[in-house]
Amino acid sequence: MLSILRSLVQEVNGARDLQEALDVIVSRVQKAMGTEVCSVYLLDPATNRYILMATEGLYRKAVGKVSLGYSEGLVGLVGSREEPINLEDAPAHPRYRYFPETGEERFRSFLGVPIIHHRRVLGVLVVQQRESSRCFDEGEEAFLVTVSAQLAGVIAHSEATGAISGLSLTGEEARDVSFNGVPGAPGVAIGDGVVVYPAADLDVVPEKPAEDIEQELEMFRAAVKAVREDIERVANRLASQLRPEEQALFDVYLRMLGDEALPGEVANQIREGTWAQGALKQVVQQYVRHFEMMDDHYLQERAVDVRDLGRRLLSHLQEGDQRHLEYPARTVLVSEELTPAMLGEVPKGQLVGLVSVKGSSNSHVAILARAMGVPTVMGLVDIPVNQLDGKELVVDGFEGQIFASPSDDLRAFYQAICDEEDELIRGLEALRDQPCETTDGHRVSMLVNTGLMTDVVRSLSHGAEGIGLYRTEVPFMIKDRFPSEQEQRQYYREQLEAFAPNPVTMRTLDVGGDKSLTYFPIQEENPFLGWRGIRVTLDHPEIFLVQVRAMLKASEGLNNLQIMLPMISNISEVEESLHLIYRVYHEVREEGYDIHMPKVGVMVEIPAAVYQIRELADRVDFLSVGSNDLTQYLLAVDRNNPRVAQLYHSYHPAVLQALVRIAQDAHAVGKPVGICGELAGDPGGALLLMAMGFDSLSMNAASLPKVKSVIRSVSREWAMQLLEDVLLLDSPHVIKSCVDLALRNAGFGRYLRPGKSTTVAFAEKALS
Ligand code: PEP
Ligand code: MG
Repeated sequence: MLSILRSLVQEVNGARDLQEALDVIVSRVQKAMGTEVCSVYLLDPATNRYILMATEGLYRKAVGKVSLGYSEGLVGLVGSREEPINLEDAPAHPRYRYFPETGEERFRSFLGVPIIHHRRVLGVLVVQQRESSRCFDEGEEAFLVTVSAQLAGVIAHSEATGAISGLSLTGEEARDVSFNGVPGAPGVAIGDGVVVYPAADLDVVPEKPAEDIEQELEMFRAAVKAVREDIERVANRLASQLRPEEQALFDVYLRMLGDEALPGEVANQIREGTWAQGALKQVVQQYVRHFEMMDDHYLQERAVDVRDLGRRLLSHLQEGDQRHLEYPARTVLVSEELTPAMLGEVPKGQLVGLVSVKGSSNSHVAILARAMGVPTVMGLVDIPVNQLDGKELVVDGFEGQIFASPSDDLRAFYQAICDEEDELIRGLEALRDQPCETTDGHRVSMLVNTGLMTDVVRSLSHGAEGIGLYRTEVPFMIKDRFPSEQEQRQYYREQLEAFAPNPVTMRTLDVGGDKSLTYFPIQEENPFLGWRGIRVTLDHPEIFLVQVRAMLKASEGLNNLQIMLPMISNISEVEESLHLIYRVYHEVREEGYDIHMPKVGVMVEIPAAVYQIRELADRVDFLSVGSNDLTQYLLAVDRNNPRVAQLYHSYHPAVLQALVRIAQDAHAVGKPVGICGELAGDPGGALLLMAMGFDSLSMNAASLPKVKSVIRSVSREWAMQLLEDVLLLDSPHVIKSCVDLALRNAGFGRYLRPGKSTTVAFAEKALS
């Protein structure tokens, strides 16, 4: 059973399009189950009808013609009940619906299972049998359920591929289909997609037509020649150390590179109009699938060799490709996994939007995007992103959705939203020099989170009163080695000088989790529960000491440095860190620097720290809540995983209770407490935090004017009443709605994400 499934999934994965995938499914399942009929019906979102998309056993001419309403017939029943239906005598069932054009009257037994992906019913997989005596048994039912579960993702992916090209399930034109991910950074962008992908990875090579076929052929021939030479060189070098049978492996490689073999096929694909990298990808993937499906273990292993050869060829092709990535004036950067370095590659002023397959709202690249004010959609799984290259895209960072090749109406609709947003931001500029004070005189410090130097410039122009979190890992992430003490000292000095005499809170290196350094890879099963933040730097005091030394030297003459420790889960981590900081302080003073001992604080981002606020506060000067991590750890929801993004809720009652407790306990021992997670930059969240008594709110610069204008328009008493009310509620969604309603009533409806989905609003406008 497992081997049937494995080869079925591989074959379906290798299909060129949705139709081929579905044809493979019905024919393989029919054979494997020994039934007379196997058919797939897919739910067409445009018409909300199930369409017969492929069949083995019914009349082929009915494919694409026969369709059923959403709750019509047995197929509709399986879809609406979202569970299998197994009938010995289907025509006797009251919901049976007869379609003469399918030739169905000959079949009595029916087993249908829903195809569900991420809670969405995509269609129904059906097997049928002529004899009434045959009732599909439990094992067969389980097999069909397994097939359907395994294939749902593949079907969703193929469906999306068609939709990106503007085609509906039935091959008709379908415009303005939305592709859904999760919101990464608010705002709307309209621009041209540029797909960026890591080098030498065949899986992510985009499919593109060849601009100049001769040139592509030329580049490919050069790559083949270079790889042949590499292999011959290695074979010669190792000749004396290898046995003849091991040397034969090189011959296998060289044979595969013969003109008649792989290169010939790639050249044919290029001649048909595909660019060289795309042609190589297609041929290598075909070979790999072919070998992997073989029963012979030795031949299965050859798939590894083909993949390796493909990678070598690709690497030479990419090296030889002198065409630089051209970034259009309005670039929407699209990638499997965006990295800060990729954002840095786009020329200044040309980056308007971001789309990432991996990651979620609170991934670090999304936080960076928010800081840069670039509308972003994360977690766009099931989308063949490679196809977005060169397409006009609308990125709706409010709703977490994108549109490819929008119609004129849709483009105009989104352009109006962009214009409104720009106007709103311009209207807030006047607040820059006003204090962040409620109408009844309660003052809150408005700080910013920074990482890049550009954040500093933006923060100052938005009226920030200091830096509440400088993510020192950002400059580490955009280099290809650890920055030296001197380099670090320069980065830190820029931040300290820009804000002096106001405080600049520098967090010690917080890598691990979703923040990796290419030159210091950390491979773990559970990276968010693993070697992260202070755990890494205490294990590598040489990194910690150099960093603290650079910070202290950079603060000379300014004395506005504060040091903050991330991921603290134990008092001993604080004590060890303090010990190292004192040591560096004395050493640096002995070297003759005139520096002051900085204030040291701890981040509260692990539930254990919530219950040790007093013990922590006794040892340090201040506390700052990292609500991004605190939420993920309290709710056990990976902040980087789009599959569980809907469970990540900073308005969860447990998160709010923890925050109330932290503020109370810190104040009980007379220590200031701030917050530097994303909740502080959310206007509703900021109101609740202010009511809880947080002394400072630190957020990305783009959020600061909105948060300040909200706080300046309400009284603390009003906010405290709102807090009291929501703390009585037990659902994060109800709490969020309550806070939104309060904001709307206070006249800030325009700060909320559009009340109803923008797609619905667009549809309503189009219909009116
Ligand atoms: C947090 O966890 O809330 C935080 C501010 O730190 P980071 O997002 O960098 O993990
Ligand atoms: Mg954190």
